[in-house]
Amino acid sequence: MSGATYDLLIKGGHVLDPGQGLDGALDIAVAGGKIARVAADIPAEDAARVLEIRGAGRHVVPGLIDAHAHVANGAITEGVGMGNCDADAIGVHSGVTTILDCGSVGVANLGVFPAWILPKAKTRVITMVNAGSYAHTMPGPADVNSLDDINRDALQRAAEHNPGLISGVKLRIAGPIFSSIGEDIITKAKAAASDLGVPLMVHIGDPGANNDAAAAQRRGELTRFLLRTFEPGDILTHLCTPNSGRVLDPTGKPYPEVAEARANGVVLDSALGRGNFGIEVARRQADLGLYPDTISSDLTAFGQTFHSLLECMAKFMSIGYTLADVVKATTASAAALLGLQDEIGAIAVGRDADLSIIDVVEGDFTFTDTTGQAFRGGYGLVPVRTVKAGEEFSPGWGTHPWGWLPALA
Ligand SMILES: [Zn+2]
Repeated sequence: MSGATYDLLIKGGHVLDPGQGLDGALDIAVAGGKIARVAADIPAEDAARVLEIRGAGRHVVPGLIDAHAHVANGAITEGVGMGNCDADAIGVHSGVTTILDCGSVGVANLGVFPAWILPKAKTRVITMVNAGSYAHTMPGPADVNSLDDINRDALQRAAEHNPGLISGVKLRIAGPIFSSIGEDIITKAKAAASDLGVPLMVHIGDPGANNDAAAAQRRGELTRFLLRTFEPGDILTHLCTPNSGRVLDPTGKPYPEVAEARANGVVLDSALGRGNFGIEVARRQADLGLYPDTISSDLTAFGQTFHSLLECMAKFMSIGYTLADVVKATTASAAALLGLQDEIGAIAVGRDADLSIIDVVEGDFTFTDTTGQAFRGGYGLVPVRTVKAGEEFSPGWGTHPWGWLPALA
């Protein structure tokens, strides 16, 4: 092996990188953890190790990026707040090479990332801090229960002491406080993000307001206010939520602020999760041309037992999005959301060799949205092998008792 030019050669694969318009039979050579060459028919003898790709449904795509998940595993006590995933379990062992942790912890306990999570994760983990100082870790109705829960001074000190750690500020519009001072909280969270020079990501969808007409209407007003507050690069998450605060008005039309925000460079993320994916909403939005920029999982410890990022992608394929659409939404577009479009999300010479080998399986599958409504789809996606900076990882068993594929209809 000493004479080989490359450490690894992925040979004979259907390479699909929609962000760059790659879609065809290409070989990928890796050296020193970087992509060294992308071309047809690279000789096998040039590489110390060869992975040969065979089979009609097998594809090689850029390492998948989950732009909304929760991996503050060990920072949050089970039974108190929201259980978090092990980063590698939903990362490199699930076809995913980069994860954005979306505000699982606040400034008070963000230190768990540099101390414990980042040093041991093989997956690239990027962190957003919750606007609420204690996030989901304190018992209470919401992350933010008063304006004082957002501590701009502490956030600035944390950013100063931990350069590069905070890539964004996350706010959840959920909880009774938003009915009264929702605008003030949004404005303060935006100011906190601006202090740090990072984007603001905001969760819409408040199930607690669903059964109260006045509260539900307020959530709609707040979503409109939020979209007017957003600047380019800010992120709305849970685009397809069926809950109060969704982007469609009661007659099913998008608020005018949605198109304005998108034209202004605001990112629309879908983050399906346990509560925020309505199939009727997603279909209606697709009919209207209101497509999500990114597809993300919103995985938590509980969510890990019933879905995966690949299954979220398959759910969008059931609506009519193509494989290329859903791969772009989890690679090039997700990299852009992170501001890392020049570093990750593409199979390009000189970049880290982050690659996902996946099987696209045709079948008659059944899915369930977060309201409990079942729907059918024609594709399931299965991770086969993941390469992160040249290092290979095998997938785990999968999210379901039977493995990775969605349930059969
Ligand atoms: Zn989340």
